[in-house]
Amino acid sequence: MTQIISIANQKGGVGKTTTAVNLSASLAKLKKKVLLVDCDSQANATTALGVDKPALESSLYDGLIGETGIEDMLLPTMMTGLTLVPANVDLIGFEVEMMSAPKREARLKELLVPAADKFDFIIIDCPPALSLLTLNAFSASHSVVIPLQSEFFALEGLGQLLDTIKRIKNAFNSSLIIKGILLTMFDRRTNLSQNVVDDARQYFKDLVFKTKIPRNVKLAEAPSYGLPVVLYDKTSPGAKSYMSFARELLKR
Ligand code: ADP
Ligand code: MG
Repeated sequence: MTQIISIANQKGGVGKTTTAVNLSASLAKLKKKVLLVDCDSQANATTALGVDKPALESSLYDGLIGETGIEDMLLPTMMTGLTLVPANVDLIGFEVEMMSAPKREARLKELLVPAADKFDFIIIDCPPALSLLTLNAFSASHSVVIPLQSEFFALEGLGQLLDTIKRIKNAFNSSLIIKGILLTMFDRRTNLSQNVVDDARQYFKDLVFKTKIPRNVKLAEAPSYGLPVVLYDKTSPGAKSYMSFARELLKR
């Protein structure tokens, strides 16, 4: 059965897109069929996979407003087994235009129905807000992975995110679960990073994945070459950690 996973945290810059892209690529490397859905108007995941946004014929926005079917939005990538639904700045309009549309939270879920049986995983890269797009992502998903930056203030706002997930579970999607919390940008040289890890483990116990993603410059460089890190530098700590994370996720 297809597993649909949202990568979400309303904070920006915590590693959502890096995780969405590199988890998707790592799962593809492990021979899974993966669809990455870029659900952020900043479209960083789309850029990170080397897609020329102005040249796009259609993007997630067209699908969400019902102008294009999912089949016409699927873009193959340079990575075997990895397909992308791209985004662009049009997505900004979605929230406003859908203000009073019926079942506006279920648009993405419905859009994905015909694609579901073609993929083992659908990974959704969420925007940095608890917005209508995130609500769509959560309504369409079986689970949520929360990247947590191993830095001060990391846990701030997490309560709000967990409350939102609970409310969405009650109102729209009773089967939604939190798959786990992923510590990102871990720096083993600082006590601060270790403190965040200790705090997260103390509060969230086994919900915290064993794999930690280290701070690694290759992860930051890879998007500028339009490549996931497993293609950019597969021997880097960043590539190895996302491969470990993919394996851990497959077991969970
Ligand atoms: P978000 O999607 O949550 O806003 P991003 O994944 O775009 O966060 O990450 C924010 C910035 O940090 C980007 O420039 C990205 O390349 C960089 N980055 C993310 N994870 C790492 C990491 N583990 N090591 C080094 N840089 C990282
Ligand atoms: Mg992002």
